[in-house]
Amino acid sequence: MNNSPYFNPERETMTRQQLEAFQLERLKQTVRHCLTNKFYQKKFKEAGITADDIQTLDDVRRLPFTTKQDLRETYPFGMACVPLRDCVRLHSSSGTTGNPTVILHTQKDLDEWANQVARNLWMVGLRPDDVFQNSSGYGMFTGGLGFQYGAEKMGMLTVPAAAGNSLRQIKFIKDFGTTAIHAIPSYVTRLYEVMQQEGVDPRRDTKLKVLAIGAEPHSEEQRKRIEEMMGVKAYNSFGMSEMCGPGVGFECPEQNGLHFWEDYYIVEIVNPDTLEPVPDGEIGELVLTTLCREAMPLLRYRTRDLTRVLGRTCPCGRNHVRLDRMRGRSDDMIVLRGVNIFPIQIEKILMQFPEVGTNYLITLVTEDNNDQMIVEVELNEPTDDYGKLQKLSQEICRRLSDEILLKPKLRLLSKGTLPVSEGKAVRVVDKRKVYQ
Ligand code: ADP
Ligand code: ZN
Repeated sequence: MNNSPYFNPERETMTRQQLEAFQLERLKQTVRHCLTNKFYQKKFKEAGITADDIQTLDDVRRLPFTTKQDLRETYPFGMACVPLRDCVRLHSSSGTTGNPTVILHTQKDLDEWANQVARNLWMVGLRPDDVFQNSSGYGMFTGGLGFQYGAEKMGMLTVPAAAGNSLRQIKFIKDFGTTAIHAIPSYVTRLYEVMQQEGVDPRRDTKLKVLAIGAEPHSEEQRKRIEEMMGVKAYNSFGMSEMCGPGVGFECPEQNGLHFWEDYYIVEIVNPDTLEPVPDGEIGELVLTTLCREAMPLLRYRTRDLTRVLGRTCPCGRNHVRLDRMRGRSDDMIVLRGVNIFPIQIEKILMQFPEVGTNYLITLVTEDNNDQMIVEVELNEPTDDYGKLQKLSQEICRRLSDEILLKPKLRLLSKGTLPVSEGKAVRVVDKRKVYQ
């Protein structure tokens, strides 16, 4: 029986010095392993470096970056560093914008991935007598199998409920005594709405205590709402298929940022234009190097996610770097009339108003040759007090324009009007005319 607050005490509580020594060793192995593959041989040749150039941890900066484009160009197996016969699983992204991408795993990769997820679930206080329900889509989306194997590894009774079918989810939660759920944040609010319709009070009628929420950007305000609604603690979970899936970064009980597991990854934050490192505390692009992957190690993978370093120590005893919640991907950034805006900035403001719900949609349109932003959000309670509505609308608009520096049009809708997606929420629809 493990009575420790840590799933893997040795790795989780390493000092910075121990962690860095461990990383250097693993980095050297990873580089040598990558160089068995033609793609990397070519990249190294172009960069004019060899495995021997990696002598210190800082030398990671001499390595070439890899990108989603590389994964597409080498689709499906061009970046594999072991023979296919040694691989036991692949996950693939949807590929709506070009070739899909493929990530291969050996059995050891899958075991390590399960260890990572188990570590996170243990960290937030879950133990083998907990019941874990996973509302992720199974299949190619890594949130399904990733949490499944991690929760099993930790020893919990797991309920692979999969996505959607809220009535069934609620029945399972009640009948099986579910204590923890993994869900996409936008889905939690949907689940709560259905609970309300069914007269189910999560505090009174369920044993829920922990939610793992992630896979899409969400604000601190959104998290607080989820915690209040469901009467649970909601922990931010960061995952990415290229890095395995869920398990890459997770909040500890301190909820002061995401611990990114540095025994598995080298974490860099770089300026996306110059590709030079930014100082701690400054926002930049997250770049990750895998340290223990067999089938498809990735060197300096540009995630496109924007975040910053919050610290490298934590009262929980883990010295793995803490990163701020993601702003979104650089590709999610809206550029409207020359102003850069992240959907999460809009969410943050909307969630400060208790009158509105958590579902919202940003539409960009061209009206009279002018690009405009329309923000639609649902009201929590129906009302016909137009004076009140107008005041609310003005106040939201004022706060939004303070935040994003331009004035959007706001539409307050009745509950249930906006579409709800089963997977990651669609927050932005761009209908602007593009003038050549
Ligand atoms: P896809 O690339 O098809 O969206 P992934 O499941 O690999 O599929 O998505 C990974 C991405 O999801 C991350 O790069 C990040 O943008 C986003 N993401 C995952 N977890 C979080 C989180 N906790 N907060 C913000 N964004 C997240
Ligand atoms: Zn911590």
